[in-house]
Amino acid sequence: MKYEVVMGLEVHVELSTNSKLFCACSSKFGAEPNENVCPACLGMPGMPAVTNKRAIELGIAAGLVTNSEITKTISFDKKNYFYPDLPTGYQVTQLFAPICKNGWVEIETEKGKKKITLSQIHIEADAGKLVHDNRTDTSLIDYNRASVPLIEIVSNPDFRSAEEVVAYLEKLRQLLSFANVSDCKMQEGSMRCDVNISVMEKGATEYGVRTEIKNMNSLKAIAAAINYEAQRQIDALETASEELVQETRRWDDSKGQTFSMRQKEDATDYRYFPNTELMPISIEDKWIEEVRANLPEAAHDRFLRLTEKLGLSEYDSNIITGSKNLSDIFDKTMEYFSKPKEVANWIIVELLSIAKGDNKGEDDVKIDCKKFAKLMELVDSKVINRNVGKDLLSLVLTEDIDPEKYVEENKLGMISDTDMIDKVVQEVLVEFSKSVEEYKEGNQKVFGFLVGQTMRKLGGKANPQLINSLLKKHLS
Ligand code: ZN
Ligand code: MN
Repeated sequence: MKYEVVMGLEVHVELSTNSKLFCACSSKFGAEPNENVCPACLGMPGMPAVTNKRAIELGIAAGLVTNSEITKTISFDKKNYFYPDLPTGYQVTQLFAPICKNGWVEIETEKGKKKITLSQIHIEADAGKLVHDNRTDTSLIDYNRASVPLIEIVSNPDFRSAEEVVAYLEKLRQLLSFANVSDCKMQEGSMRCDVNISVMEKGATEYGVRTEIKNMNSLKAIAAAINYEAQRQIDALETASEELVQETRRWDDSKGQTFSMRQKEDATDYRYFPNTELMPISIEDKWIEEVRANLPEAAHDRFLRLTEKLGLSEYDSNIITGSKNLSDIFDKTMEYFSKPKEVANWIIVELLSIAKGDNKGEDDVKIDCKKFAKLMELVDSKVINRNVGKDLLSLVLTEDIDPEKYVEENKLGMISDTDMIDKVVQEVLVEFSKSVEEYKEGNQKVFGFLVGQTMRKLGGKANPQLINSLLKKHLS
C-alpha cells in the first residue's frame, strides 16, 4: 500500500492493408515462409519505395477514433540497428513528425471511468520473424512480415494497475477493429504490447527506475507480468536485494517471471535520421473528412442501436458489440431474419457455445448468415423444433448444408399431430409407471424425464409444447 505502480504502454497494431508499406507484396497472415517478399521489402539496394496510401488512411482513422490531432505534414525516419530479421538494417518509422498527437481514450474499471492520454501514434514498418529450431540448433528467417505496416500507439504514464492496462487494451481493440484499422488479434501478433513500468512511494514527485516488458501477446500474460514485475521492484526497494536498472525484460509465461533481456538503449543508440528516399506527405483537411465519413459504425453506436432501437438487453448487446465479427454476423443475419431477440439468442447461446467447444474465440467464428437466418426461420415458423435447429446449426458450420433442403430430405419436420403424440405419451406412462408414481408423490424432476422419453420415441422431432401439455393432462 506504500507504493504506487506507474505504467505507460506502447502498443503495436498491424494495419489491415492488403499490401505492405512500401511495396505490393501481400501482407496477409499465414502464408508459407518467405512467400510474400520482393527485392524492395528484402532491402535490396536501389529499389524504389512507394508509400501505401491505405496505410496512411488507416493511420488517420486510428487518430480519429482516439481523439487525436492529425499532423498536417508527416514524414518518415530511419531507426538504425542491426538484427537478422531486419533486412534493410533500419526500421522505417516516424520520429520527427508522427501522424497523430495528443489523443485520449476513456476506459472503465471497477473504480470508475478514467481518461488515458496518448502522446502520439506513428506509422512504421514491421520486421520479419526469426524461428529458432532447437532440434537442429539453427535459426530460420521468415520475411513475410518484413515491411508490413504498423501503427505504434504510445501512451503517457497514466496507468496505475493491471486492470487499467487490460481495460485499455480491450478498448483499443474495440475502437480499432470496428474502424477496420486492424483485426487486433493478439494470438496472431497483429496486436502486441510493451509495458514501461516503475514503482514509487505514494505521493512522490519523481518516477522510479523503469523497466520495459516487451512483446506480450495475451491479456492474461500482460496482467501476470505487470503484477510480478511491480512486486519484484517493490522487493528490491524494500530489501535492497538487487539494484534496479533501466532495462528491457521479457516475460516467461511457463515460469511466471520476468527476466532481463538487455540494458535499455537510449534513443541516440539508434542514430535516427530522416528517410530522404520518402517524400513528406501532406494530409489536407479534405482527406481527413473523407476518412471520417467512411468510418464504419463504432462499437458504441452499434450498442445504442441494439439497446435503444432493437430493444435488446444491455447484457446481450455488450456481448454482441464486444466483437466486430459477432456484431457483423448479427447485422448480416438480421438482413434475412429480422427478429433481433431471436438472432441475438442464437448467436450468444448456440453459436458461441459451439465455437467454444471448437476452441474458437468470438472473432474467429465464421458462418453463412443467410443459412443461419434460414434455420432460425424454420424454428420460428414451427417447421422444426429448436433441438433440430441446433443440430442444423452444427451441420451448417461443419458441412455447409442447406437447412431447408436438409430438413426435407431427412424428414426432420416437427411432429405436431396431437393424436400421434398422445398415443406415445400413453405408452410412456405405462412403460415408466414407477416414475409416474414418483411424480405423484411430489418429485417434480421426473416430469422432465418423461418429456425426454416421449421425445426420444418420436425421434427428437416432436413439438415440445404439445408433449408438455398432453403429459400434464394425463398426469393430473
Ligand atoms: Zn515486397
Ligand atoms: Mn515501434
